[in-house]
Amino acid sequence: MIVPTHFCSLCGAPTSLRVPFGDDLPRFVCNACEHIHYQNPKIVVGTIPQWEDHILLCRRAIEPGYGQWTLPGGFMENGETVEQGAIRETLEECGAEVDITSLFSIYSLPRISQVYMMFCANMRDATFTGGGETLEAKLFRHDAIPWDALAFRVIHAIMNHYIDDAAHNSFSIHIGTILPSSDEPLASHAP
Ligand SMILES: [Zn+2]
Repeated sequence: MIVPTHFCSLCGAPTSLRVPFGDDLPRFVCNACEHIHYQNPKIVVGTIPQWEDHILLCRRAIEPGYGQWTLPGGFMENGETVEQGAIRETLEECGAEVDITSLFSIYSLPRISQVYMMFCANMRDATFTGGGETLEAKLFRHDAIPWDALAFRVIHAIMNHYIDDAAHNSFSIHIGTILPSSDEPLASHAP
């Protein structure tokens, strides 16, 4: 998946799609200053917030997946660490303050060039809110996860691992891939 960059981000001149010297993939290269516009995967960071025997999920107030449940997460910002990004997204989307305990999963979504890094986290207290990109946040018991109303396949996969690990009280790091599926819209999903 390559997003067209018609004009140079440095000088504004038109670009053309070509393989730069010494490279093996086509890139948008500026016709004037030769600046190469590399495109690389985006990292999505988030948490699985735990409070006693509950997990905090948030219901999306934006498309895609409006009205469906997801884990708090979003794109990393420049200048922050993965842990800082995951904590920030949890506060922004659920109003919950968490402490990260461990890395839980790394999932590649090559079709949309995203990598999800999710962390186990303990909520500091039972405080949470909706707002912004979230209609509501809610604590769910492990046996009451709204499986049919989870927003994305990657969230479904991560939650499956988590509930399974929790049932055995043995948590490990899960590395996986969400492959393209024909029953899924091609639109890139913003976490
Ligand atoms: Zn240029």
